[in-house]
Amino acid sequence: MVSLEDVRKAQERIENVIHKTPIITSSLLNERCDLQIFLKAEHLQKTGSFKIRGATNAVKQAMAEGARFITAASSGNHGQAVAYIAGQLGIPAAIVVPKDANRAKVEAIKAYGAKVEYCGTTSAERIPRAKQLAEDNSGIYIPPYDHPAVIAGQGTVGLEILEQLPDIGAIVVPVGGGGLIGGILCAVKFLKPEVRVIGVEPETANDTFLSLQKGIITAISGTSTIADGLRTSQPGDLTFPILREHLDELVLVSETEIKEAFQFLLERTKQLVEPSGATALAAVMSGKVSAANEKVAVVLSGGNIDLHQIPDFLNS
Ligand SMILES: *Cc1c(COP(=O)(O)O)cnc(C)c1O
Repeated sequence: MVSLEDVRKAQERIENVIHKTPIITSSLLNERCDLQIFLKAEHLQKTGSFKIRGATNAVKQAMAEGARFITAASSGNHGQAVAYIAGQLGIPAAIVVPKDANRAKVEAIKAYGAKVEYCGTTSAERIPRAKQLAEDNSGIYIPPYDHPAVIAGQGTVGLEILEQLPDIGAIVVPVGGGGLIGGILCAVKFLKPEVRVIGVEPETANDTFLSLQKGIITAISGTSTIADGLRTSQPGDLTFPILREHLDELVLVSETEIKEAFQFLLERTKQLVEPSGATALAAVMSGKVSAANEKVAVVLSGGNIDLHQIPDFLNS
């Protein structure tokens, strides 16, 4: 279990690496939703997503424990974050990516100084390879969400929101494997339990929704949402118990609603946010978050996209 103290220590460990991201407001958005909305701009974070928080905390901890090599198994935001922080801290890293990984993402990982190894097309193939590489090189494998140091690092988003918005009433967060919302819960529910924390998943990647409904970790197959950061097939062994105990509500949004939020953010607020990062706002904009007379913080979790994909992210 991750304690408030763990999240506070993570904040100290990572503060010289990460940006304290701004809060963005839009009167148009407030009028449209009839709420006071505060957008936590993690798409403006180093490496383009909040993942650098957990990665930095985990890599620093691994180095303190004597690790001499770092591995991860992701071509996405987690892989980029681990590659970046390993490069900054001067520890060699290998990132295992799928054979069909997007070229721009692979180039970004290499530019941060990490080695790239191609392996299979599924995470079931990549993860054992990344663990093996770590073992062979006196290193540590850093998972994307199911790790105490990763969860504690992501929880610093929650600490920052409470510092920046002391009278916030609710925080709305996208849910993939649950590292981000799990960390936020570990901070917020111990500092200000009255603040409601609401998770959001795409309808087509509703593994955490089903798991909460059944009370046990439940896997789904064939997730196909445009929110690629939320395509996990099941919540984590560490994250799920945190959500089951502390989460106030979990709501689902359609692909159309995610696109609507993506388009609004780009067109009206000039913010380029990836679909996963727009998912929490999609829930608010579609009236699915019950809030009355309270200030609502919405986490925009990342902004990494291939610009050529933009037409796919717009409603026709
Ligand atoms: C990873 C990621 C998420 C989901 O985070 P979890 O910790 O897996 O729940 C949401 N948005 C973006 C942009 C991400 O990269």
